[in-house]
Amino acid sequence: MNYVLKKEVFSKFVNSVLKEKGIDFIAPVKSEQNDIIKFQKLISFSDLCLDKNAYYPLKEWFFKKNEVLFEFKGDKITIPEKKPKPKIFFGVRRCDLNSINRQDVAFSEGCWDPYYFLEREASTLIGYHCFEKEDNYCFCGSVGLEDHYDLMFYDRGDYFLVEIGSKKGAWFLKQRIRFFKKTTERLSARKKVIKNANRLQKKNIAPFYDHKNWKKGVDLCLGCTSCNTLCPSCYCFEFKDKVNISNLKNGKRIREWSACQLKDFSEVAGNHIFRSDREHRFKHRIYHQLQYFNEKHGKHLCSGCGRCIRGCPTRIDFVGILNNMKTKKPNVKKPKK
Ligand code: SF4
Ligand code: SF4
Repeated sequence: MNYVLKKEVFSKFVNSVLKEKGIDFIAPVKSEQNDIIKFQKLISFSDLCLDKNAYYPLKEWFFKKNEVLFEFKGDKITIPEKKPKPKIFFGVRRCDLNSINRQDVAFSEGCWDPYYFLEREASTLIGYHCFEKEDNYCFCGSVGLEDHYDLMFYDRGDYFLVEIGSKKGAWFLKQRIRFFKKTTERLSARKKVIKNANRLQKKNIAPFYDHKNWKKGVDLCLGCTSCNTLCPSCYCFEFKDKVNISNLKNGKRIREWSACQLKDFSEVAGNHIFRSDREHRFKHRIYHQLQYFNEKHGKHLCSGCGRCIRGCPTRIDFVGILNNMKTKKPNVKKPKK
């Protein structure tokens, strides 16, 4: 069953959730200083900005930039008690919903990460569908996005059509049912297509690893890691032990974001660096996003949000670079007549 939320009651709906005690409402908000849109705790309905997707991804709400895993005093280890506040994330685009799903996969692979999943379990994800690409950097239509949401809002002019995607979403809606009305309206898969977002032409990039055109991107890459930081799917991290300098037996272990574009990211004991040259680091990120993860999990890590191109200081468009790569035609000799 789908529901309708009329725009005339939309502000009342948001304001009523904002007044609820014990939950935070996180939504895209535009900065007054630099016009950049970021997910943050919404204070007032007038701050909500659904014009464009957020420049920064949502991932830091679940996969913290910097997190204390445990503290140690000699042999004694203490794990900080975490009780995340329930959070409603509103206005999450289809690309970002898929990226959260890929991080769910990454943080449950092999072992279940309690630090990440405590935050995820406390979250309700309410999507906001794009019907058209936001700008020329988007290519979400090329990477096979799936449905991953608790609720999904589709803007239909003077109302939102609301789809339920999970029990959590159904429960959230039921608690606020006074704002919604049942409807038999359905959107077909064709009507949900995000227009003009099918920019990446290659479905299999494996044959292009040694292509000479990668140089066009590699020569411009500064190794700044903005692409990793802005990517909603990237999940590399490293551990650091911060010890008390006056008593080296006491300290804490911290997990921090890291980046495959850093030379020392692949450094191991004995000073061996697995990806010591920039070309391998540059290609590794793209191949992890568009090939390796897919080989392992049957879906792309990349959600085609375009942030890594939009936010790259030298605007390296790896999609355009890939599109312009041609495979060599096999040298088949024609049989003599
Ligand atoms: S953002 Fe651009 S310049 Fe910076 S590391 Fe990534 S590809 Fe290189
Ligand atoms: S690799 Fe780039 S386009 Fe793909 S999800 Fe990450 S930031 Fe978005």
